[in-house]
Amino acid sequence: TRKSRPQRLLKAVEGKATLGDPQSVITAIDHFCRHKEWAMNVGDEKGSILDSLVIELSPVNVLELGTYCGYSTVRIARLLPPGARFITLEFNPDYAAVARQVIGWAGLEDKVQLVEGASGDWIPRLREHFGVQMFDLVFLDHWKDQYLPDTKQLEECGLIQKGTVLLADNVICPGTPDYLKYVRNSPHYDSRYYRSHLEYTKVEDGLEKSVFLGF
Ligand code: SAM
Ligand code: MG
Repeated sequence: TRKSRPQRLLKAVEGKATLGDPQSVITAIDHFCRHKEWAMNVGDEKGSILDSLVIELSPVNVLELGTYCGYSTVRIARLLPPGARFITLEFNPDYAAVARQVIGWAGLEDKVQLVEGASGDWIPRLREHFGVQMFDLVFLDHWKDQYLPDTKQLEECGLIQKGTVLLADNVICPGTPDYLKYVRNSPHYDSRYYRSHLEYTKVEDGLEKSVFLGF
């Protein structure tokens, strides 16, 4: 059977990256996506902005919405402090299977809980199921029309608290206009844009960092 793009990406990791070396996994994926096949990872350019934020925050509880092949998961997990808890959600079982292998190749399986299912179904159950009280960092990178409803659901569940940082990818391309309008106009968020480019291209895109100030 013909392999899927995520399966080809995994093969590139297995062929080029060193087991247990997250940086080599990141480099192998970026090389594959720049020179072979574009894929919807946050990528190296926005990835370095993401890295800086993770280093600055040193978050203990992290949620990622949209795992895909585990590229951003590896980027984030490799920078977390010891004892951190990192949940990443993915509703496509084929992508989740590839991500598990990519995360394992990086040697980060003990730092990540990859949860299969839709964000809208999981968010109301996260507190009860995983015993998490709140998140210090939420990375939003799933389907773009879900950023706003999921943010509101996270607020309602009390998982966004004073100081929680939301980092949203692709706010320009493909774009998340309703979400941007919400975080930029809400008095409960301090929001700023980090201009960059759509992964592996020269097209403008960026990350929006929104700090929750409390109700
Ligand atoms: N964060 C990844 C990275 O940078 O390496 C890329 C994620 S990709 C842009 C978006 C992923 O979100 C896809 O794999 C898709 O299947 C998943 N997804 C979309 N909507 C979702 C939802 N409501 N719940 C869970 N996963 C979702
Ligand atoms: Mg993205």
